[in-house]
Amino acid sequence: MSNTENSGTPRAAAVFFEQVATQILEQHAHALPDLRELVIILPNYHVAVPLAQHLARAANLPALLLPQMVTINDWAESVPLTQSITPDTCRATTLYQALREREWFPGADLWGISSELLGLLDELTKHHVPLPQSEEDFLQQLERAYQAKRNAAMQFEARVVHELWYAMSASGELDAARAYQQRLALLAQQAKSPLIVLLTSDFSRLEMRFLQAYGEQATVNMIDLRVLSAQQENCALLHAALGPSAREKNHQRRDDNADDVHAEVLSLRAQAQRLHAQFPQAALGSRLRLFAAHGLEQEARAAEVQVRRWLLAGKTSIAIVAQDRLAARRVRALLERAEVQVRDETGWILSTMAVSTVLMRWLDALQSDFYYQDMLDLLKSPYMFADQPPAERKQMVYQLEQLLRKHGAVAHLEVFFELAQNEAPELGSPLARLRQAADELGKKSSTIHGWLLALERSLNILGVYAGLAADAAGEKLLQAVHTWQQELATDSTRFSRAEWRHWLALQLDAITWRDSSIDSPVLLTHLAATRWRKFDAVLLLGCDAAHLPSADKAAVWFNDAVRDTLGLPVRAVYRAQQRDDLLCLLALNDTVLATWQASKSGEANLLSPYLEILRGLHQLAYGDDLAETELAALLDNAQVRNAAAALPAAASMPQPVAPQSLIPQRISASGYNSLVACPYQYYARHVLHLNELDEVREGIEKRDFGDWVHQILHRFHSQYIEYNKLLINIGKAGLEQALHDISAEVFAQALQRDYWARAWLLRWQQSIPAYIDAQLKSEAEGWRYQNGEVPFELPLTEDLQMRGRIDRIDVQAEASHVVRVLDYKTQEARVLVNKLKQAGEDVQLPFYAHVFEATEAAFISIEKNKVLMVEPPQDVARLAHANIERLKLVFAQMREGVPLPANGVDAVCAYCEMRGLCRKVEWK
Ligand code: SF4
Repeated sequence: MSNTENSGTPRAAAVFFEQVATQILEQHAHALPDLRELVIILPNYHVAVPLAQHLARAANLPALLLPQMVTINDWAESVPLTQSITPDTCRATTLYQALREREWFPGADLWGISSELLGLLDELTKHHVPLPQSEEDFLQQLERAYQAKRNAAMQFEARVVHELWYAMSASGELDAARAYQQRLALLAQQAKSPLIVLLTSDFSRLEMRFLQAYGEQATVNMIDLRVLSAQQENCALLHAALGPSAREKNHQRRDDNADDVHAEVLSLRAQAQRLHAQFPQAALGSRLRLFAAHGLEQEARAAEVQVRRWLLAGKTSIAIVAQDRLAARRVRALLERAEVQVRDETGWILSTMAVSTVLMRWLDALQSDFYYQDMLDLLKSPYMFADQPPAERKQMVYQLEQLLRKHGAVAHLEVFFELAQNEAPELGSPLARLRQAADELGKKSSTIHGWLLALERSLNILGVYAGLAADAAGEKLLQAVHTWQQELATDSTRFSRAEWRHWLALQLDAITWRDSSIDSPVLLTHLAATRWRKFDAVLLLGCDAAHLPSADKAAVWFNDAVRDTLGLPVRAVYRAQQRDDLLCLLALNDTVLATWQASKSGEANLLSPYLEILRGLHQLAYGDDLAETELAALLDNAQVRNAAAALPAAASMPQPVAPQSLIPQRISASGYNSLVACPYQYYARHVLHLNELDEVREGIEKRDFGDWVHQILHRFHSQYIEYNKLLINIGKAGLEQALHDISAEVFAQALQRDYWARAWLLRWQQSIPAYIDAQLKSEAEGWRYQNGEVPFELPLTEDLQMRGRIDRIDVQAEASHVVRVLDYKTQEARVLVNKLKQAGEDVQLPFYAHVFEATEAAFISIEKNKVLMVEPPQDVARLAHANIERLKLVFAQMREGVPLPANGVDAVCAYCEMRGLCRKVEWK
């Protein structure tokens, strides 16, 4: 479809702009070439350039002084007022205080209610709705509207709205809605410039009154795209489906009722025949297509591919009109993967951005007394400690995280301080910054102004301020904080930190940030922002019945009947606006693809009722249901593959080759075990280093228990050597007591922290007599404890070193070169026997045996009241040799580029943290 005229303006749009230009020039021919007296009210500033171009072309004069082109809001804004405007932040705090004093909503979200009420009060102002003087009269009005007898809920609603409306009005303050009203009134009083208004949908009642008043003093001309397009043959079908007459019918049915829509389509048969006969050129097939997708992914893929096709065809202005934000996010991600940038006109809500997250995490950390997850989230923000060199900052954050995780420190800044003092004194400084910053926000209550100042100071201490100031979105946030500070400087209402935090979250929700640094032919926008705009191509995304018309926010106060009685716009008004916008978008643009998910999770999903009628009518009139049929077949071939993506294709087992530079130079027994269990797991954990850091255990886990048992036994054996001799001096009871005492010391800290530590201690204490027995038995067999917790590093080949720590080494009393390596396990002997059954399946013992040239090796199974030695059934020296040779071979192969397949067995996969990465569920 080549629907672009020579100037680059889509042909359909050019027709309308020419008409508008001609009309303006005809009406103001007497003033030419100076049109500066004239004011044109635009729906947005994107319209200004094409309109100016068409005016200049149509005037065909050496020079043309252009009219003033402005949006109604900006025009009103230019009118000075003597009274200053009370910002909404102040109104909200006044309302909050009023609600708090009246105790109408105990335990409810008062900020949320305040904001809804403010919205309602503004609507009442905006639509010139006066409330009756007395609450009783208002109640009667509600009774009539609800067509119900008064009840407690109605009385309450009437009381809240009435009382607050008068309370807020009585203050005599000027709010933004009233200021707008006053400014428009002043503009109307001073009217002298002729006015032209470009419309696609109706103005609010307030604005219409203004135009009426203005029209009494000066000329006002409305140029309505709905009217202009109705005169175009190629828009005849659009109007039949979406125009004013169709709107009337639409008024009488519910938009989302499929049966009604279907019935309406059938009733259009006669109309369709007329259309076909009267307007053979009104078929839309070359301008509009509808793509029915199976689910979100296909819709997003189709949109992405279509946008890329348009770009390849040389289109330089492509709009993605996002009815469904979820689909839009996916399309945007796909386009970015294909290296197509998207200019987002709708912007990001500030509260969803990292700049706000750091603020909220900081307040969360304070609120939770530095709960480790809040703390770690906070520390990982790139804005945290941004005044330090990045490498230093990362190292410090890493160290702090390690420390927290190592000790399972769940919360409390002072606990972190203590740990740092003993193990990482260099962390003292960042922790001190956190403490100092926390002190700034340590008050119980303050004014919002006070809280904001304290916040700013704390952010300065944390280096967050510097980070935010260096970022465009951060800058916007800091500006907002300053604005709120100024606005609320004199407000003396006091709030707790939790109340203020909630306020802050709502404020951040209300700010949108647009990234103006992106310049791209692809634009993400919304339907209302397309008024009078022309694009080379338009992709209407998410056009199902749930998103077009979009669901309006349910009115919390008053239902439609009451709103109608009061004179407030009802839902149908908002829907009609969207329908008008859609009509005009389709009239103005001649390359449009509308997509929707015809099925969602296997369930049928209806097309937008507006498009359904359009499609039905088109089918009846021109025998074409407007279905886009080419795109689906293109999707697979058009797949963009990201060469850098390490993720495997979902359909097959991943078997990556380890890059030479990343092949590890050191290996531990557990690393080797992982390599044997699943090469891909080893690749992910040890080549890519994706292994998770230790989780902080909020409760005590088996792993902690194992660690404590290791510590206890190491201390016990280091202090008491040769138990057979000790037996004579202190007896078995004395040995057991010694082990009990050490155990109590090791468990002491955990007992303070966690109630469940006692259960684990009792469990271990059950094993003590059996452990002493096992030790005495071992000594009776000639073994003597030699050393414990021994670290080692042993070169295996030129570029591979074995490293680790052995739990314990015993030697024969009579022949100290006869070595036995031992590993403590708090597992049942049966499990360990199974592990060792198959030679080479568990490599831990052979690994240690090789390092310490041991001829014997065993696990010591410690489980409740049983302590057993579990040895491999094979000859240990030979087993060690074979395992080490295999290790060398596997590494040599890895260096030669042999792939590392994800071939773990189910028992291994069940505990593997790389499941999400290898995506076994998708290919097995
Ligand atoms: S889930 Fe199984 S196959 Fe996948 S990496 Fe882990 S062990 Fe290997």
